Amino acid sequence: MPVGATSKLRRYGLYVGGKEVPARSGAVLRSITPARGEPWAELADAGADDVSAAVAAAKAAFDGDAWRSLAPTRRGRLMMRLGDLVGEHAEQIALAETTENGKLYKEMLTQARIVPDWLYYFGGLADKIEGSVIPVPRQSVLNYTLREPLGVVGVITPWNSPVLLTVFALAPALAAGNTVVIKPSEVASAGVLEFVRLTEAAGFPPGVVNVVTGGPEAGAALVDHPDVAKITFVGGTAAGRRIAEAAGARLARVTLELGGKSPNIVFADADLDAATGGVLAGIFAAGGQTCVAGSRVLVQDAVHDELIEGLAARARSLRLGDPMDEATEMGPIATEEHLRRIDSYVAGATAEGAEAIAGGRRAVVEAFPNGFFYEPTILTGVSNDARVAREEVFGPVAAILRFRDEEDAVAIANDSEFGLAAGVWTRDFKRAHRVARRLQAGTVWINTYRALTFNSPFGGYKQSGFGRVNGIEAVNEYLQTKSVWCELSDEVQDPFTLKA
Ligand code: NAD
Repeated sequence: MPVGATSKLRRYGLYVGGKEVPARSGAVLRSITPARGEPWAELADAGADDVSAAVAAAKAAFDGDAWRSLAPTRRGRLMMRLGDLVGEHAEQIALAETTENGKLYKEMLTQARIVPDWLYYFGGLADKIEGSVIPVPRQSVLNYTLREPLGVVGVITPWNSPVLLTVFALAPALAAGNTVVIKPSEVASAGVLEFVRLTEAAGFPPGVVNVVTGGPEAGAALVDHPDVAKITFVGGTAAGRRIAEAAGARLARVTLELGGKSPNIVFADADLDAATGGVLAGIFAAGGQTCVAGSRVLVQDAVHDELIEGLAARARSLRLGDPMDEATEMGPIATEEHLRRIDSYVAGATAEGAEAIAGGRRAVVEAFPNGFFYEPTILTGVSNDARVAREEVFGPVAAILRFRDEEDAVAIANDSEFGLAAGVWTRDFKRAHRVARRLQAGTVWINTYRALTFNSPFGGYKQSGFGRVNGIEAVNEYLQTKSVWCELSDEVQDPFTLKA
């Protein structure tokens, strides 16, 4: 079925207490399919009262017996069952995601097919969350720790990988025994709702997982709600700052997974074919709409001209078009507003003296005259001080920066407020590891790019955020530790002396 080729609009409600319900005000948001620039679905637009109802459902589920008293092994089994169901419904989830955010169906399908891995991994972790017995100095005391869930966790996500990014937070939060209210992006909520509907068939008690759809106001109501113990936010750095401030005002915990301006560094001794592929995939996969986009391409002087010639030739020949088509290499930009923002970055860069050696404007795709397409763009002559090198464009725009030597490369790479990811292309393994240690980034890829999975930690340095998703340590983000002291002797103690 071609993207958005529906005669009627699909309708999605909020998911609260195990039921799909409309917003109390009856308000809806229209979801526009970016390949066609046409509405295809209506989403409930939650108000603060809907958010409160979802939080109340999550709190009742947390406080009740059905979730808290469930043996962790059983909780893990439910998560695994949900993983099985996601695998069985991967096409349906991926289709909703492609229709709403325009990313290639083959990419969204790959994502939907790996989502179960997170639910299996963290489901398996649920009964391995253990406290410890501490050998405190006073031997007549038994001191041990309990690792307890936080309560209701709010998860706010962006539009670029809606279900996968939701599961990055949801899986460890559930494994730790929390209940969750998700606020997906107003641009891409349908995939998340298709996914969350499966919790019922998986056997989750109602209220353990809830979804409120809507814009930033619905997100802010979740952040401000006194019964939400923690917010995990995935999105832009500007919104992340506002959320951290609001959460800080009532001392709620936060994990922030924010934007990036990741350097992809090509040394002269690299395998240039592999590096060319890695640079292209780093910036043009998903039309550059990924947090880890390798948007600053650092190239050593000796191979600069050869590399950019190869990059420009490949960029000019990338096939833009229907995101459902297997042969398409780049789909549309998610929204028209975002397309304009990307264009303004490129116009600003060229006005500052950069040259677009490939792309540089809105693309015309004949079969999709109203689609939001942008040409794969390569800018040369960019200084690391230019706006296009400092701010996140979140589009198919690579800024090429030259460097002399290793020292210079590390200095330029680290001269950024962001620190999400970095790539290093070299055949010299000593240099590769030396540089990896010096880069200020939460993820460093050597001779590869955009690799990521459920059991390796992922997160930002600097303004790219704090806290980690994925890997065992992610579960710690959703636990708090209680220390229990028990006097085992009958000795009468002086009540006014500190007991150590
Ligand atoms: P965004 O920050 O505009 O919105 C993200 C989510 O936050 C949406 O659900 C939005 O409704 C909500 N929101 C916005 N302002 C809010 C506020 N004040 N209070 C509460 N909720 C609010 O981001 P976007 O445009 O949807 O996504 C793109 C951004 O996400 C990029 O910056 C990208 O780098 C980042 N991102 C980061 C990661 C990561 O893991 N680090 C992954 C994917 C995307």
